[in-house]
Amino acid sequence: MARKVAIVGAGVSGLASIKCCLDEGLDPTCFEKSDDIGGVWRFTEYVEEGRPNLYKSLMSNTCKEMSAFTDFPYPEDFPVFLPHAKLLEYLRMYTKHFDLRKHIQFKTAVISIRKHPDFSATGQWDVITETNGKQTSATFDAVMVCIGYLTDPSLPLSSFPGIDRFNGQYFHSRDYKTPEVFKDKRVLVVGMGNSGVDIAVEAMRTAKKVMISTGRGAWVLSRVFDNGYPWDMVFLTRFLNIVRNSLPGRITTRLIESRASQWFNHANYGIIPKDRSVMREPVINDELPAGIITGKVTVRPSVKEFKETSVVFENTPDAEEVDVVVFATGYKASFPFIDDSVIKVENKHASLFKYIFPPLLEKPTLAVIGFLRPLGAVMPVVEIQARWVTRVFKGSCKLPSIKTMMEEINEKKKNKKNWFGLSFDEVLKTDSIVYVDQIASLIGIKPSIPALFLKDPELAMKIFFGPCTSYQYRLTGPGKWEGARKAIMSQWERTLKPTRTRVVEDSSNFLTYVLKVLAMLAVFVGIFFSFI
Ligand code: NAP
Repeated sequence: MARKVAIVGAGVSGLASIKCCLDEGLDPTCFEKSDDIGGVWRFTEYVEEGRPNLYKSLMSNTCKEMSAFTDFPYPEDFPVFLPHAKLLEYLRMYTKHFDLRKHIQFKTAVISIRKHPDFSATGQWDVITETNGKQTSATFDAVMVCIGYLTDPSLPLSSFPGIDRFNGQYFHSRDYKTPEVFKDKRVLVVGMGNSGVDIAVEAMRTAKKVMISTGRGAWVLSRVFDNGYPWDMVFLTRFLNIVRNSLPGRITTRLIESRASQWFNHANYGIIPKDRSVMREPVINDELPAGIITGKVTVRPSVKEFKETSVVFENTPDAEEVDVVVFATGYKASFPFIDDSVIKVENKHASLFKYIFPPLLEKPTLAVIGFLRPLGAVMPVVEIQARWVTRVFKGSCKLPSIKTMMEEINEKKKNKKNWFGLSFDEVLKTDSIVYVDQIASLIGIKPSIPALFLKDPELAMKIFFGPCTSYQYRLTGPGKWEGARKAIMSQWERTLKPTRTRVVEDSSNFLTYVLKVLAMLAVFVGIFFSFI
């Protein structure tokens, strides 16, 4: 009989997990608290308790080719970066195509997950769920926790002296929906993550005045990168990753700094990161510099204190009048239905092997999917995690010894600066190409570039020098997909299709053609002269 797997949550990670269970012949049951799929990507008009929340204007920060599951490219007419509704549409198509819905129990909340009394022999878990106020208990052979980390807002009010006497309105970015709330108001957004910058930029359309306060600064990149290509298709290539990771850390960060500052000088705009030896998650925003240069948004240092109707910033003598404060101060992860002895979140992360497996369990039958912050798209990362996990559950892949796992976890916890390549400011942040390759090697699906250069040089060139799209993890090994090569060869066509909506003469193509003809002429002339 197929092994039963409980999956908590039907967002991106949960859907990928159901699909991977089915691929490996496991029997998944997914419990979803709400009445629909999509998790963070499903917009609702009102904030719902216990669910992640989206603001109306939210767009994906990673482009569609980089955000695709490994065997399911986006339709070619979808925009290159996706409004949340389009991303949800993709998830619905994925769910339908692989017939995942019948494995989901909606309106069912997981209340507790406890080791079965026979756990040391069977590795089983007792899962208590609640539907319409009625609790049910069932035993599962394994569990995949797919709840993300964007539900519980982190609102560190104690770090903001005077907030209790502030008479204006304040709320966390999780409670933000549309910019009407800022109409004719003086707005302060605290925190320069992606939420903070998105909200500040949106506020400038309706507000009287917008300030954004940042303690650490940030690198801000545009979605529209070199020659108008998506930033991540240019930045996240195997070739560039090898270059970045082979250079001393200081040189790598300098190269990234100079690249980011080609768009606008981050120091002149007051947002250059304070500690540049470590990488913060870049802010992807196309409008912030325009907002700053037109005076619609002003950048401020950390908040020193609030007064009744104003705010005082560090190293700034005068108080600034403010009506609305948005605390875009991020989120805190928690796993309330699992005992602390199994997973405990401390200092924003948990002791998990490869961000997935609690290392001390007698049997590796519980996994957390999506509890990391990769530099790049989330979908391919969580899918590769789910592919590995389901193979571990099935017994096709083995975990190393507890000692080896603990050593790796403890080393990771130190978050030491690397001599070479990038170092990150938080344990949860990681280089997605390196991480996905590591997991892919454990499954036996990592493409061998040298072998591919001999067998299929055209494809090898695309994989090595082109964007590191996820289809390449379906070229070989378990779960090989016949459409993978075609998906890689056509990735730029799908990217450019939605932008080429007016037929124009392409002068750059003509130039390339002329250069090719000249190069061939030069070769012919060379051959001719070598014979006389
Ligand atoms: P975040 O990336 O965790 O940023 C929170 C920011 O709040 C920090 O960077 C810090 O900013 C500030 N902060 C935190 N604690 C503070 C304190 N005690 N005092 C003062 N400031 C404090 O949170 P987020 O922006 O909500 O993003 C969460 C995740 O969602 C990220 O992975 C992000 O990429 C993602 N996201 C994606 C999109 C999209 O796809 N379009 C949009 C929004 C968010 P300073 O260092 O500047 O002070």
